[in-house]
Amino acid sequence: MSARRKSNRKNQPLVIGICAAILVLLGLVTQIPGVKESLGIQTDAPEPVARVSTAAVSGEYMRVHVLDCGQADAIVVTQGDAAMLIDAGESEHGKVVLDYLAELGVEELSFFVMTHPHADHIGGAKKVLEGVKVHTVILSHAEHTTKLYENTLDAVEASGAEVKPAKPGDVYTLGGAEFTILSPNPDKEYEDLNDYSVAFLMSYEGSSMLFTGDMGIKPEGEILEKGYNVKCNVLKSGHHGSKTASSQAFLDAADPDIIVMTVASDTKDNLPNAQTLERYEKTGAALYRSDRDGLIVLTFAGGQVSVDTERRAAA
Ligand SMILES: [Zn+2]
Repeated sequence: MSARRKSNRKNQPLVIGICAAILVLLGLVTQIPGVKESLGIQTDAPEPVARVSTAAVSGEYMRVHVLDCGQADAIVVTQGDAAMLIDAGESEHGKVVLDYLAELGVEELSFFVMTHPHADHIGGAKKVLEGVKVHTVILSHAEHTTKLYENTLDAVEASGAEVKPAKPGDVYTLGGAEFTILSPNPDKEYEDLNDYSVAFLMSYEGSSMLFTGDMGIKPEGEILEKGYNVKCNVLKSGHHGSKTASSQAFLDAADPDIIVMTVASDTKDNLPNAQTLERYEKTGAALYRSDRDGLIVLTFAGGQVSVDTERRAAA
């Protein structure tokens, strides 16, 4: 025993030396862009996400860019050379979306899904339609007579884009990814305009993300009743974390690893709702929210999802 202790003591300087060398090496290695992320090391001040999001990822991937538009939605999905947009935020976000697409090098959109006619989802749509080529616009059957929505529909027509009504069960492909429309039910009229939101499940090589717009508990229930698969790696929180969405049954079925929520820090609408946040917490999913994290970029590759944020890691 004493001999072993003695020999351990003898080796101490060597062990300390090796440890120090490893620490120095690790320090040098993590200065290389992207290495920190791949090692899973989180820092208080992550690299600006615009740089992270354009970094090369080995192999193919699908990327979902949840723009920071406060309590409004504008989400870009890219796979290979194909790109699509889900909503375009408030009117002032039209330019933000166009600038972001330009930064990504996106010159045309295969799809532009306008989830529903509220201003925090289609406000910037006209500007986007005028600024980038859109091949197909997917719309719900919601009828809405605001000037904004009428102007938006005029802009869709002027753009020459093909209009596809959202129909549950329809499947579209975006490069190597595909998405299946889940809601709304075109045979139904809903009291709440939010319930007309186009919801769909986007899948890419074994991983998936569920997009819900501002859909409430009623259409969530219809999706479950119809038996659609909603199991996903990532859930876009319905209606900015409102109590009108994200029922326990829907969360149980979706069973997400990550929840992404578009909220503003200065909201007057009491969003997100405290009880909804509790339900999110119970899922065990990591929560990312635009008010804290800024721009959120999710990379789907090899059945795995990684997240980069503009400001900080998720709580
Ligand atoms: Zn909304």
